[in-house]
Amino acid sequence: MDPTGELPPRRRLGRYSYPTSHRIIEIGAIVVFVGVAGLFAARVLGAIVDQASPAVLAGVAASAFLAFLAADFFSGLVHAVCDNLGSVDTPIVGQKFIRSFREHHTDPLDMTRGDFVRVNADNFLVCLPVLIPCVLWLDVADHLYLATFVLSLTALVIVTNQIHKWAHIARIGEPVPALVRTLQRRGVILSPEHHQVHHTAPYDTHYCITSGITNAPLARIGFWPVLMRSCRWIGRRLPGSPAVTGETGPGSTAESAASRSRHSA
Ligand SMILES: [Zn+2]
Ligand SMILES: [Zn+2]
Repeated sequence: MDPTGELPPRRRLGRYSYPTSHRIIEIGAIVVFVGVAGLFAARVLGAIVDQASPAVLAGVAASAFLAFLAADFFSGLVHAVCDNLGSVDTPIVGQKFIRSFREHHTDPLDMTRGDFVRVNADNFLVCLPVLIPCVLWLDVADHLYLATFVLSLTALVIVTNQIHKWAHIARIGEPVPALVRTLQRRGVILSPEHHQVHHTAPYDTHYCITSGITNAPLARIGFWPVLMRSCRWIGRRLPGSPAVTGETGPGSTAESAASRSRHSA
């Protein structure tokens, strides 16, 4: 896909270039998520059918739309914090989460060479601490709108990185599924044109990467400058934070090269 990049080696558990123990955790997270989310979805759908009325259906639709907005906002919040705070040496989150965001700005096309597990497993993993307690303790019939919100939110979080990957694939002119391109054009999911703003100097806006729908209102209310000020304050206690060192300004050199190469071919 990227003329300058190579696919990871094919191994027994797929194409990846990191320890197999890490791969097993990733696959385990996806399997557990599918089981737990399937059970939760069956309960939510059952409760919707049991309680169906125009008012309840409107409430369910409103909860799902709220989750659509929340998923986009949280994707931007996590993205902005990981781009600007700490370093790959930050304990616990450095290697697992911050690294992938920093590497994405060094080589935006790297994620396009990752398979489904590598690109998406982390998001399945972060949903489990929310989903499992809901399955264990949330009375879905009594809290149908909350349950719908949680189910919709986790469903959107697990597809966020895939949506981000599709935006970069489409950006270099490689094919994406027709439905995906339609959703990108209509702004239902992140479009390559919209996301390119984040990969363009001064690199300090458009952090939201699920649909991008919250980017414009957040920019309008001055959310990102306030967050950056907070990051600078917290970053003074976190060594290597780009918010303090000024090493933001991640480019998309590899992507531009790939795009140029394709269009001049
Ligand atoms: Zn970024
Ligand atoms: Zn990107």
